[in-house]
Amino acid sequence: MEPILLVHGGAGDITNARVSGKLDGIKTSVRRGFSVLKNGGSALDAVEEAVRSMELDENFNAGYGSCLNTNGEVEVEASIMIGDLKSGCVTLLHDIMHPISVARKVMEKTNHTFLGGEQAMQFAVNQNFEILPKGSLITQNAKDALAEFLDRQSKGLDTIFSPTELDKKEAPGEPGTVGAVAIDIHGNIAVATSTGGITGKIPGRIGDTPILGSGTYADNTIGGVSTTGHGETLMRFNLAQRILQKMFYEKVSAQEATEFTVKEMTKRLVGTGGAITISKSGDIGIHFSSKRMAWAYIKSNKLFFGINKGDSYVESA
Ligand code: ASP
Repeated sequence: MEPILLVHGGAGDITNARVSGKLDGIKTSVRRGFSVLKNGGSALDAVEEAVRSMELDENFNAGYGSCLNTNGEVEVEASIMIGDLKSGCVTLLHDIMHPISVARKVMEKTNHTFLGGEQAMQFAVNQNFEILPKGSLITQNAKDALAEFLDRQSKGLDTIFSPTELDKKEAPGEPGTVGAVAIDIHGNIAVATSTGGITGKIPGRIGDTPILGSGTYADNTIGGVSTTGHGETLMRFNLAQRILQKMFYEKVSAQEATEFTVKEMTKRLVGTGGAITISKSGDIGIHFSSKRMAWAYIKSNKLFFGINKGDSYVESA
C-alpha cells in the first residue's frame, strides 16, 4: 500500500494575518509525520507526530496557543484511533503540551477509552508527562482573542465576526484545531485530533474533538476522518461517522462523501466545519463549509496543500 498522510489545521474564520503562519505550520507537520511513514513506520506513529508538531506551534488551537475559556484558562482535549477500532480520548486537561500523546497512553495503557478532568491529569502524571507551570500554554494572541470576545459579548454584539469585519481584522484571531489521518504500507489507518476548543467557552465545556464519530474515527474496513469546526454542531451531527457510513453504504468516493456530508451538516444545523478523509484504498477527501481550512497531504513524493476554497498547490515533498 502506498503510504499517505493528510493533515488539517482547523476550519473557521481564519484571518488574512494567520494564513502564512498556518501554511508553514501545516507543511512542517505533514513533512514530520510523513518521515515516519516513509521509513516504514505505522500510521499511528505518523498521526501522533504530525499532531505533536502543530501542538507546539502557536498558529494552531492545540497545546501551546490554545483558545481560552471565560476564566482565561486553557482546557485541552484530544482523541486518537486506529483502524482496528482501538482508541484513546482525553478532555479537560491543562498545562500539558501534548494531549494527543496522553490520549495514546489511554488507548495503550488502560482498559478504558476516555478519561477526563483531574483524574485524567493524575493519569498523565502517572505516565510521566511533564506538567508545565500554570499558564504555560497561554499566548498573547489567545488573551487578545478572549478580551475581544468578552468585549463583544458585553456589548450584546455577535461574537462571530461578519465576513467584512474579518477582512478588515489585523490581529491574528482564531487559531484552529489540528488533525491528521494516515494510511501506512500495511493498509492500517490511524486518526488523531487535538484542540483547545473555542474562545470564551464556559469552563468544563467539552467539544466534538475527543468524541469518537464526531471529531475522530478510523476503521480499516472503510477509512479514517478527522474533523474541525463548531463543536456543538459537529458532535450533534456525528460528522466523522456519517462520512464513513456514506462511503460504506453508498460506495461513494472519499471526496464525494466528505463534501456531501459537510454541506448537509451546515444545511441542517447552520454551524460550519470541515473534514479530511482517507479511504481504505488511499483515496482523499477534503471539504469545509467555513471561510477557510488549512490542509496538506503527502502522496507519491508530492506535497499538496491549501487554505482557501478551491486552492490546490503542489510542491515536492
Ligand atoms: N471543533 C473544535 C471545538 O469546537 C474547534 C475547532 O475545530 O476549531 O472544540
